[in-house]
Amino acid sequence: MSPLMSNKPSAIRGTNDFIAEEAARFDHVVDTFARVRRLYGFRSVHIPVFEHTGVFARSLGETTDVVSKEMYTFEDRSGDSVTLRPEFTAGISRAYLSNGWQQHGVMKLAATGPCFRYERPQKGRFRQFHQLDAEIIGSAGPDSDVELLALGQHLIEELGVAGNVTLQLNTLGDPESRSAWQAALLAYFNGHRDSLGEDSQRRLDANPLRILDSKNEGDRALVADAPVIDDFLTAEAAAFFAALTSGLDAAGVAWTRNPRLVRGLDYYRHTAFEFVTDALGAQGTVLAGGRYDGLIEAMGGPHTPAVGWAAGIERLAMLIDAPAPEGVDLAFIPMDDAASARGARLVAALRKGGGVAVETFAAGNMKKRMTRASASGARLAIIIGADEMRDDTMQVKDLVAGEQVRIPQAEAGFVGGYLAELRLVALTGHDGDVPDFPAWRTRNLGGQAR
Ligand code: ATP
Ligand code: MG
Repeated sequence: MSPLMSNKPSAIRGTNDFIAEEAARFDHVVDTFARVRRLYGFRSVHIPVFEHTGVFARSLGETTDVVSKEMYTFEDRSGDSVTLRPEFTAGISRAYLSNGWQQHGVMKLAATGPCFRYERPQKGRFRQFHQLDAEIIGSAGPDSDVELLALGQHLIEELGVAGNVTLQLNTLGDPESRSAWQAALLAYFNGHRDSLGEDSQRRLDANPLRILDSKNEGDRALVADAPVIDDFLTAEAAAFFAALTSGLDAAGVAWTRNPRLVRGLDYYRHTAFEFVTDALGAQGTVLAGGRYDGLIEAMGGPHTPAVGWAAGIERLAMLIDAPAPEGVDLAFIPMDDAASARGARLVAALRKGGGVAVETFAAGNMKKRMTRASASGARLAIIIGADEMRDDTMQVKDLVAGEQVRIPQAEAGFVGGYLAELRLVALTGHDGDVPDFPAWRTRNLGGQAR
């Protein structure tokens, strides 16, 4: 049945609609990244969601899964081939060259947003997914690799998932080491060609490194005995890796060596890493990246060393504990239309002047309004009815303590002050220092000009 024939419109396969807890999880990951990346001096970068197809096809490598089968590529109305970004690195490198960002020296950049890959949707794998991305461009490292990994580790810790996630680290060496290793892998896998899976046989000539990444069970047995990069590292590449690992140790970033870890994309050199968990089944990589010294040059720019990572927001969001539900500070409950109108000014003043989150509960009978107000998470309720309208007062009810007091509407400042003090107490952790609202107001009345 076509989507137009069913009575409900359907979403595109592999896309998600999030509300409530799922949305809160997603937002918490994004907010945490925004906070942590500032601690490391990474600046925000915004780039387009689509690029000329060549930007991705050339930089990711024609033989990679992403380019050969996963890209959302289409012709626009003028016949140009464009592609929805499957990742950030290529687009950021393109922007670096298009805008001459070399003039800024070393750049530490962070991006967040949707990426698109035509994949088989399953748990942790979608067609529109979202990434956090961090890049250091223009620095040959390995101190930059250490800083970038420290940022990744810090993010994982701040999200409270460090106990479930480990950093796996490898080196792919410099181009010389890498091609020697590649030749050895080619010879080795050629000797076992018939035992390889179909995909891997295809990869053999194009890029034997990719076989190390194979998820095919039979391939994995062969991969276990394949030559390792260590035997082919040049002295320089070995020194780079040694500096990286001692830098990580000094920075307190725990890592384990995985000599069979390669990255899916062709542009990586030296450092390659993944933060992995076994809590998400087959989709266990939450954050991954490496050094891509050759990419910007391959795109037609000057030789520009760079290192970066990307993390899957949905995968991280599934791992974290549910964030505290969002609520309001104050419930406004008008008993009639006149009270509604009067309250509107009060509510505006509390929101704008006091930074108080307010929701109005004006539907249903009084019991229903009170129940909804309590469920909103509000600590206080302001109730205005006909009596209160007559003498410009309001009832302020402490929804947690249950105490209620009738005070002049002109004392709205007390309400804002009380909620501000509660916020401060929550921040400093001195729980229980603030009495219920009526008692707190009495305590503070002395300082108030009457
Ligand atoms: P995988 O091996 O799971 O396919 P990948 O190597 O293709 O991952 P990268 O290109 O390194 O992934 O992307 C970085 C991160 O983005 C991944 O570690 C993962 O957390 C996330 N990611 C990649 N593809 C998807 C997807 N289709 N759906 C959800 N998250 C994804
Ligand atoms: Mg993939």
